[in-house]
Amino acid sequence: MQPESLMMTHGYVPEWSENAVKCPIYQTSTFVFPNAEAGKRFFALAYGKLEPNSGEQPGLIYSRLNNPNLQILEERLALWEQADGAAVFESGMSAISTVFLTFLKPGDRLLISNPVYGGTHHFVHHYLPSIGVHVEHFTADTDLAALQKELCADPRGAQIKLIYAETPANPTNDVIDLKALGALKKALAAQFGTEVRLAVDNTYLGPIWQKPMEFGADMSCYSATKFLSGHSDLIAGAVTGTAESITAIKTLRTFLGNMASPNTCWLLTRSLETLKIRMTRQAENALHVVRFLESHPKVSRVYFPGWASQGDEQVRIHQQQSSSHGAMISFDVLGGEASAFTVLNNLHLVKLAVSLGSNESLAQHPYHMTHADMPEDEKNSLHLTDAMIRLSVGIEDPEDLIHDLRQALDLL
Ligand SMILES: *Cc1c(COP(=O)(O)O)cnc(C)c1O
Repeated sequence: MQPESLMMTHGYVPEWSENAVKCPIYQTSTFVFPNAEAGKRFFALAYGKLEPNSGEQPGLIYSRLNNPNLQILEERLALWEQADGAAVFESGMSAISTVFLTFLKPGDRLLISNPVYGGTHHFVHHYLPSIGVHVEHFTADTDLAALQKELCADPRGAQIKLIYAETPANPTNDVIDLKALGALKKALAAQFGTEVRLAVDNTYLGPIWQKPMEFGADMSCYSATKFLSGHSDLIAGAVTGTAESITAIKTLRTFLGNMASPNTCWLLTRSLETLKIRMTRQAENALHVVRFLESHPKVSRVYFPGWASQGDEQVRIHQQQSSSHGAMISFDVLGGEASAFTVLNNLHLVKLAVSLGSNESLAQHPYHMTHADMPEDEKNSLHLTDAMIRLSVGIEDPEDLIHDLRQALDLL
């Protein structure tokens, strides 16, 4: 069965909870052991001291280690990408920083795409170097085959333990070639005999429209605050991936204690039921909005993943790895920051707020808001200009959205 058919029931048995159709919220910190011997076995399994018998479920101990709401959510989330497993966190940043801390040690090197989400950029540039992790960038313009050759012949290639890409990138919608990164990972591991992992921030198109594990990625990272939640009412993060990566991540999560709460998991489980229908409608709406923006005389450029305005190579990569353009549009207006602010200040239906992927449309100014912390020369070199507005398209009527955007743009 397809994931959308399983989202209402998978992993939950009504008999567990007075035949309730819906899984209740297990708002409890701890669980009663049937006897002391069982408690001993649960701990031995949880800490990996014993292997589970075939089909044996890990016993419930304490909600930092596990909780039914967390487990059911993780089992359902993994279905969308046919991942071995998933780990859910209290924020997207918490998921992403735990991935970095799990797979990077002092002296290791991180190879990461640019631009990325502002919080990821901050962690990578301010925290990782302070613990002795080297950071090296590439962009959508980097020739990845040439980089592979260069790194396989250079000692820095042996230091690379994690390749991380955000694609499409926030906020420029640049797409990064996942197939080429899968090949780079394999080549480095073969050349140096190292364990190299590939993680992809899949927040913009996943898990419906892009499945990085098909291209050799070990993990997809998510801000679950965005499309996965879809209602702008919670903060959460997730990683889906291979059994080996998820086990390593969950082990560190147990000690950082940054798992999501039962209440947040319950809300996300509810949101997953409508994930595909919401994302489908949002993507359809975005196509209408992009065509309108392209036709407006005050819009000088639109940035939409795999759209012709991004160039032929970007279209090729997008077609190779993604099955929709998604619902995130950035666009430049004539007249720079002043014009962008005029538009943002005069939108009525579209709300002026950061975040994205929600049922309601949201717009913001990346240069001075989500990416305020990024150095100006870096922003300028990545065509992240002060004329740019980032728009997350919701599930409203598309004509109402276009009407709102038109009246604001017509003020310029
Ligand atoms: C929002 C976002 C994050 C951070 O997630 P939080 O849930 O806000 O911690 C990471 N990556 C991308 C692409 C995002 O949009």
